[in-house]
Amino acid sequence: MRSYSLIAPAKINLHLEILGDRVDGYHELAMLMQSIDLADTIDLHPLSTDIIRVHCNHPLVPPDKGNLAYKAAQLMVEEFPEVFARFGGVEITINKQIPVAAGLAGGSTDAAAVLVGLDMMWQLGLTRPELQELGAKLGSDIPFCLTGGTAIATGRGEEIDSLLGIDSFYVVLGKYRRLTISTAWAYQTYRTQFGHSYVRNAERLASSAARVHSGPLVKAMINKDGVQIGQLLHNDLEKVVLPTTPQVAQLKEAFQNTGALGTMMSGSGPTVFALCESEAQALEVQHQVRVAIPDPDLDFWVSKFSNQGIQLASPVS
Ligand code: ATP
Repeated sequence: MRSYSLIAPAKINLHLEILGDRVDGYHELAMLMQSIDLADTIDLHPLSTDIIRVHCNHPLVPPDKGNLAYKAAQLMVEEFPEVFARFGGVEITINKQIPVAAGLAGGSTDAAAVLVGLDMMWQLGLTRPELQELGAKLGSDIPFCLTGGTAIATGRGEEIDSLLGIDSFYVVLGKYRRLTISTAWAYQTYRTQFGHSYVRNAERLASSAARVHSGPLVKAMINKDGVQIGQLLHNDLEKVVLPTTPQVAQLKEAFQNTGALGTMMSGSGPTVFALCESEAQALEVQHQVRVAIPDPDLDFWVSKFSNQGIQLASPVS
């Protein structure tokens, strides 16, 4: 049986709108998601025993059952017990490049890579919608991570409508190394503060979600109009994170002062990104913010939009 090496890209949100509550306890969302080429590498090696083993080079990522990549393998075992009995276990090695608990879907993309890798290793021949359905059982961002590129995500984020791939823009990501934000905390706090304004009528919920499809941001994306995209970036979760986390607010302001096309917090943060039209502009923006905030705890990455989700790096023997 072959081993596989997969590339698992991070995502940013260009639009994140919280529409209302769902009966399953999640939020009803309308998002525009974008893959970037900052990526983890996931190696899968078959084992002759019936064990799932996880290794990761990052101290904050659990190398055990708590790892989303482990959970993805466990789900495949439960869904395909006979195939597992025939082929045996798997050793998963995560080379973590995506910052952890950063609003960049690092865990979700690793889990998506494991679903794709085991589908190939166990020769299951699953279709993309079948993989997305499995992924949605584990996490709302996983269906997007599988397909990647540019997509509208609705429902709790698992209903994906892909747009024509856009890969011409760059982003600078800034994140304080020791600052992490719990996604659950951000959404719960939002519900406490803004729940009174949630849309409760099913028809209005559907029309609010549809508004994103025909809205100005999607038009600007299709036209590759960087100035418009920069002006239309939107994230509801900034309303709870910026007032409580001054470092994030200050970082956003520093990015704003550089003349980048636009700047916003990604997902539940604390990563802030600046949208740039070229790599040269991104490097200049990074330099200016490094000078404005000379804190050694502040890390930067320059990354390009990517029109791909999980990809095979190379089949290893
Ligand atoms: P999202 O943008 O989907 O909300 P995130 O980027 O904010 O996710 P992750 O990097 O996925 O957050 O990490 C969230 C938590 O999940 C961390 O506390 C981490 O310990 C745990 N975790 C479990 N598996 C992984 C993994 N493979 N990679 C990263 N974190 C993982």
